[in-house]
Amino acid sequence: MFKAILIEKDDAGYRAQLTELADDALPEGDVTVRVAYSTLNYKDGLAITGKGPVVRKFPMVPGIDLAGTVEASSHPDVAVGDAVVLNGWGVGEGHWGGLAQRARLKGDWLVPLPSAFTARQAMAIGTAGYTAMLCVMALERHGVTPDQGEILVTGANGGVGSVAVAVLAKLGYTVVASTGRPDEADFLKTLGAAEIIDRATLNAPGKPLARERWAGAVDTVGSHTLANVCASTRYRGTVTACGLAQGMDFPSTVAPFILRGVTLAGIDSVMAPRAERLEAWQRLGRDLDVAKLELITSEIGLSEVIDTAGRLMAGQVRGRVVVDVN
Ligand code: NDP
Repeated sequence: MFKAILIEKDDAGYRAQLTELADDALPEGDVTVRVAYSTLNYKDGLAITGKGPVVRKFPMVPGIDLAGTVEASSHPDVAVGDAVVLNGWGVGEGHWGGLAQRARLKGDWLVPLPSAFTARQAMAIGTAGYTAMLCVMALERHGVTPDQGEILVTGANGGVGSVAVAVLAKLGYTVVASTGRPDEADFLKTLGAAEIIDRATLNAPGKPLARERWAGAVDTVGSHTLANVCASTRYRGTVTACGLAQGMDFPSTVAPFILRGVTLAGIDSVMAPRAERLEAWQRLGRDLDVAKLELITSEIGLSEVIDTAGRLMAGQVRGRVVVDVN
């Protein structure tokens, strides 16, 4: 038997609970992992609270991330005892996930735990931090360099946002952090933000083009915020879009793209190819200061997951939450 969060949906409604499951209930897969840590991402919050249509099969063990040790494997490249990390691939959505003491998965989905990190640190990073790195890599790929000017990070106190602020600052970029929690300004400055702006300046309907300010941006918020960020991005700048914390809509015009040559780079972490994942994790090992990572991390147990998911959805959680599943 092992402990897990289980989401069910039936005539009695949509509900999540901490429960005990038998090993033979685990789904099919060629690798079984003893989970050490998981984490709570925005998507896990949507899944656990039922606020978004994340879960595609019931009953479901949520948790889009896990770190642990391989207990059994018939995969040629994965050996018993390997320390591994999993992010995405639909785990916690259509295949049982990491908010459990045990998981059975496809070996192809696993990456080795990077030598720079412990299992707990890898989950402090999680999908949120790995996505932040994918955003930074996309800015670099599109030629955004520190000498070009300010980089805006929206949703800066969230998981993706706080890791993006820390990594970009370490790489020498001048980071402007947009947040709805100005009382966390000191925290964001400790992470490396040069300036804090109120998200209220970005989240209402704006003009198709505004004063050019950002050389690049990491947007975790979508909706009017993303439209306004594009409208105020400098000639030939790049905006990476990875999130929808304000909304799924994108009420923009083509003006920033056809008049200023702005690039809108979409970021998806779930199905990102393995080579890019390995690069992102290697870059995190080099470009994320683990002392800063510790600052943005809080830890909970499995029994606190459901309450914390509610607070995450209410925008009350700062930075990253790791879950010690044992
Ligand atoms: P968090 O909940 O940790 O952070 C989201 C942040 O967005 C909040 O902390 C808050 O920041 C801000 N925010 C919340 N509500 C609003 C609102 N109504 N208007 C404007 N800003 C708001 O989530 P994550 O960092 O884990 O994820 C951020 C987004 O990125 C989510 O939408 C998530 O689904 C998406 N995502 C996408 C991935 C991909 O592969 N494309 C992978 C990972 C995440 P503040 O308090 O500073 O204003």
